[in-house]
Amino acid sequence: MKTLPHFIAGERTASASARFADVYNPAIGEVIGRVVLADDADVNRAVVAAKAAFPAWAATSPLKRARVMFKFKELLEANSRRLAEIISEEHGKVVSDAMGEVTRGLEVVEFACGIPQLLKGEFTEQVGSGIDSHSMRQPLGVVAGVTPFNFPAMVPMWMFPMAIACGNTFVLKPSERDPSAALFIAELLQQAGLPDGVFNVLQGDKLAVDGLLSHPDVAALSFVGSTPIAHYIYETGARHGKRVQALGGAKNHMVVMPDADLAQTVEALIGAAYGSAGERCMAISVVLAVGGIADELVTRLAARIASLKIGVGAQADAEMGPLVTRQHLDKVSAYVASGVEEGATLLVDGRGYRHPGHEQGFFLAPCLFDHVTPSMRIYQEEIFGPVLSVVRVADFDSAVSLINDHQYANGTSIFTRSGAAARDFSHRIQVGMVGINVPIPVPMAFHSFGGWKASLFGDHHMHGAEGVRFYTRMKTVTSRWPEQLSAEFAMPTMR
Ligand code: NAD
Repeated sequence: MKTLPHFIAGERTASASARFADVYNPAIGEVIGRVVLADDADVNRAVVAAKAAFPAWAATSPLKRARVMFKFKELLEANSRRLAEIISEEHGKVVSDAMGEVTRGLEVVEFACGIPQLLKGEFTEQVGSGIDSHSMRQPLGVVAGVTPFNFPAMVPMWMFPMAIACGNTFVLKPSERDPSAALFIAELLQQAGLPDGVFNVLQGDKLAVDGLLSHPDVAALSFVGSTPIAHYIYETGARHGKRVQALGGAKNHMVVMPDADLAQTVEALIGAAYGSAGERCMAISVVLAVGGIADELVTRLAARIASLKIGVGAQADAEMGPLVTRQHLDKVSAYVASGVEEGATLLVDGRGYRHPGHEQGFFLAPCLFDHVTPSMRIYQEEIFGPVLSVVRVADFDSAVSLINDHQYANGTSIFTRSGAAARDFSHRIQVGMVGINVPIPVPMAFHSFGGWKASLFGDHHMHGAEGVRFYTRMKTVTSRWPEQLSAEFAMPTMR
């Protein structure tokens, strides 16, 4: 059985910690390894390594840093299949889906390759007589990333390519449920020529996160995970004087207007609701069926669910795999039970599904609820599983109000043939990422990713221009080269 260590200062590092967590293969339901859980000494070791690497890396020209990113991009491309298999084995998502995750992460690396252009500052000649001024963005120092289980490669790649390209050094604390991808990435970065200590992997749980949050040498922390933890990270990090961006959970609604193309809508929904077994922060978990469209929509959805292919790993036609752990399977199943108790109509019940040949795997087949109401727990809370709720609403305005009243505001979408409705929707909706006939509107790397309200604490989204701003601070230099200088006692006014 494998033991997964830290990766600090350029090598897989042994730890004196006596704490470990089991790592499962969710498709077979068995423990396949254990990951070390950092103690305080490990946290300090990772931060010390990153701090030691910072001065030389920050002084490396952006062009040279970009060249490391170019090489890393090549290595990622050459090893994308292997990385996808590693993700699939510990997370459970099928390999084709994991390949998509790797590609979305790789796009951030491609964006970070443009860092010399992105870091160009501003210059104003003659802000005063014989005086010039220029502004530049400089790295922060040691920055940390704490990431969730559901995208063990992509979410870290929202963070570290930008952080490192900007000249920071990085400590990644990946999810303890699927820790191998981070180690594989660390070794690819090393092969790409990244100096030791610039990128470190600290395996662990709350103790490691708390250690990073309070460490005086950590300048900033990026977090992605559930809302209660995101809120805690934001508050605690701020209390310790750190720059923090903390992305939380979601409850993404899709509005289906009476004029929507139903065939397209059902195809879009089935992937958006059940792909990756619903364990995506941008998964659609609520459909707002407007006017009289609900009956036909649920009939078609139920029929399409019947042909959905559940599978494992590299199976070519598999469309969704198991949930990540037995505990999470039980939690999602309990939500389904609560929906039934609260009076929603369970049209398709995926509980009790056993995958042939993988009877001990953590599988839950798709579940579809109709007649869900806003007071129900299955409407209010994030389920994070293959459970789709249909809420019937009278009109467009009611749909907009429901979305705007929800605590979560990560993503949303509208399916319609009306440009006017789509335009009105994107203008009025209080959500960070909006799709028009696009079910999962994840922004490309050169835009930025982030939700509103309880889906994001902080004021910067991830990657894109926002990533550069988060991982740098501005310095403005005002200069003159006078022949003579006489004392000034009044406030300088640059006349
Ligand atoms: P989680 O909040 O349980 O864990 C996320 C990270 O926080 C992990 O590294 C974990 O070790 C650490 N952690 C857990 N408990 C902690 C504690 N008490 N104190 C300090 N650190 C702690 O989330 P998860 O179950 O791994 O991931 C699923 C969640 O992530 C969902 O809510 C999903 O919506 C969210 N998510 C959000 C986005 C987004 O962009 N908004 C993207 C992906 C996932």
